[in-house]
Amino acid sequence: MSNTPGNLPTHALPSYLQADHLGPWGIYLQQVDRVTPYLGNLARWVETLKRPKRSLIVDVPIELDNGTIAHFEGYRVQHNTSRGPGKGGVRFHQDVTLSEVMALSAWMSIKNAAVNVPYGGAKGGIRVDPKKLSRGELERLTRRYTSEIGLVIGPTKDIPAPDVNTNEQIMAWMMDTYSMNVGETATGVVTGKPIHLGGSLGRREATGRGVYTVGVEAAHHIGLKIEGARVAVQGFGNVGGIAAKLFAEAGARIVAVQDHTGTIANEAGLNVTELLRHVADNGGVGGFPGAEKMEPDAFWGVDCEILIPAALEGQITKANAGRIRAKMVIEGANGPTTPEADDILHDQGVLVLPDVIANAGGVTVSYFEWVQDFSSFFWTEEEINARLVRVMKEAFAGVWQVAQEHKVSLRTATFIVACRRILHAREMRGLYP
Ligand code: GLU
Repeated sequence: MSNTPGNLPTHALPSYLQADHLGPWGIYLQQVDRVTPYLGNLARWVETLKRPKRSLIVDVPIELDNGTIAHFEGYRVQHNTSRGPGKGGVRFHQDVTLSEVMALSAWMSIKNAAVNVPYGGAKGGIRVDPKKLSRGELERLTRRYTSEIGLVIGPTKDIPAPDVNTNEQIMAWMMDTYSMNVGETATGVVTGKPIHLGGSLGRREATGRGVYTVGVEAAHHIGLKIEGARVAVQGFGNVGGIAAKLFAEAGARIVAVQDHTGTIANEAGLNVTELLRHVADNGGVGGFPGAEKMEPDAFWGVDCEILIPAALEGQITKANAGRIRAKMVIEGANGPTTPEADDILHDQGVLVLPDVIANAGGVTVSYFEWVQDFSSFFWTEEEINARLVRVMKEAFAGVWQVAQEHKVSLRTATFIVACRRILHAREMRGLYP
């Protein structure tokens, strides 16, 4: 066996992998390798998980406001559709790459199977800094991208949703563009839409609520009291902001917050309601009056019981993992911990609640939104939150049990549960033709 990513023999390395570079896709392959010994006879099908089913790269040309033509690179990757249509967000970011979208699509397959929603996994992205575009340019970009990936998406084929730097307005434009192209209003083609266009109550808060729910469950298992617990949060958007609010309401103290505008701390606990208002008005936590400013790197060493990375991937690395004092890390972001950092945290006895279960609340309520769109019957927010909490608790209990049974990390346990479900479906469906 060679030591290439995912243990593929060198001659079989697909073009998107470089033997000397473990990008996000390489990290995902390692995670699959770790669970293969637990898959029994299903391991025969494991190669399915190591190759995305379908990857589309599109050119997205738009006319800028100054009259010039700009081209952007867009992607939609459907990693797996064994259990249902593709499902996963669309990310607008200047650093997006095919490898990253492939990994994110694979993590969606795992996540969707882990919470047992009837979807495969997909993800999309455009390599663009949306902050540099006017509203008109952003709309043109979104519409052209949607038309280009229109070949592969659809309410029963693949359903995009918001992710980093995409929101309800972008989902509305995507829904409209797809609908105009097919000649009928197809609300079920995307989730995370505005409430008045077939969106679901509770969707915006769902990821943060899921983070909080699994956090409380895990805390209970390790005898950590939420009341009085100190919490540090990286990223204060939909995920980090809402999770912080729920933890604070349960009596925890939010002692440090970091985002792209600054790092702030307050040992007595930040006033989360005021901080959310400050972020809504100013675009970030920087300059918040009710806190002290901190050096960005010092954030990782903050004295706390719970750390919630809820920004981008690759944040907890071998450079800072050793300084983390939390008892529990809850991954609100996708892929925030590198594999080396994962091992360091494990050796330090830090419990990591992995992204593929911890942030699955978003896609769970996306599923509720999709079901509501199909039935044209909309549920109350109480019903949605109650069902979300039930799904998250049940999924987490299953993962916890597998982790105990096999004495593996929660990440490996989540992969075991999810890969078994996906490959079981794969096996029962059989190969076509
Ligand atoms: N982008 C979110 C995630 O990474 C949500 C995906 C969805 O709702 O389809 O889980």
